[in-house]
Amino acid sequence: MDEKELLDVLIIGSGPAGLSAAVYAKRANLSVLVLERNYRGTGQIAETDQVDNYLGMPGMNGYDLGEAFLDHAEQLAVEIQEGTAEAFTKETDCWNVHLDGDKILRAKTVIYCAGASHRRLGVDGEAEFAGKGVSYCAVCDGAFYRGKETAVIGGGDTALGDALYLSDLCDKVYLIHRRDEFRGSAATVQKLQEKENVEILTSAVPHKIVGEQTVTALELKDGRSIPVNGTFVAVGMQPQTEQLRGVVELDDTGYVVADETGVTSAPGFFVAGDVRTKALRQLVTAVSDGANAAVSAADYIKKEYT
Ligand code: NAP
Repeated sequence: MDEKELLDVLIIGSGPAGLSAAVYAKRANLSVLVLERNYRGTGQIAETDQVDNYLGMPGMNGYDLGEAFLDHAEQLAVEIQEGTAEAFTKETDCWNVHLDGDKILRAKTVIYCAGASHRRLGVDGEAEFAGKGVSYCAVCDGAFYRGKETAVIGGGDTALGDALYLSDLCDKVYLIHRRDEFRGSAATVQKLQEKENVEILTSAVPHKIVGEQTVTALELKDGRSIPVNGTFVAVGMQPQTEQLRGVVELDDTGYVVADETGVTSAPGFFVAGDVRTKALRQLVTAVSDGANAAVSAADYIKKEYT
């Protein structure tokens, strides 16, 4: 992409929200570039073993679905560039997006779809054993624990899905949740209850991850010690919006304040997907957000540039 070119739409992130925005913007005849930090990245969806609630595709593998989204965008000749957006500045006629390595891309509109990153548990041993028994992605690292004992920490859909995935690989899986009520899907909880090698521990608050070269146990606040070879932390996500401080309005927890139109406090700067304030962060709402934000960007361009 020529640095001097003024793009219609610069999309940050090639997860489901970003790729959906790209498809809609491209089909509206706008010039589009998608900037993505990871080579052929498709965001969190690639870390999901099975997506069971995307209409018409029950049981679809998350990685395959991400690839299908990418193929769709590529079939429309959407250009995807590897890089990280580090800062955003507004000029009268465009947004400057400053990349790592001092490059600047110029665009009439930005659609920010950078998603969220894994929240840390914040207990002793977590950082020390990261990559040596502490993981944040069961689909990526589960195979290392074939025939072993693992603990999944969390009570949301990610933790439940991770526990189910690991139950097919591991001898034993402990699902450790701090409350006695799950945030995630009741249907998945039921599947887990039916698994002989899954033990669900509720009102169980992690205190410390211990080990020597690698993890050997998870200690709980009530004094119990659970012998495990691996600990999968699935305690939620935090929005990747550090670079947006001072650029657009964020809420107290760091999400970009926007409704389903994706319109933010900054003219020409739109958001879609998990980074915005919303009640339901799911694949289907991310895809829907991308479409809405692209339409909002097209409307803005029509109004401001013709
Ligand atoms: P989440 O829904 O925010 O759940 C995070 C879980 O971690 C909660 O159960 C929370 O406990 C627990 N937790 C947070 N901090 C903790 C701490 N310090 N110690 C112990 N436990 C802690 O996050 P998520 O599961 O990653 O899901 C994120 C979003 O993606 C959700 O909207 C989810 O529905 C969606 N998602 C959907 C699917 C699917 O539909 N297939 C799959 C994955 C994710 P409390 O409940 O006590 O707060």
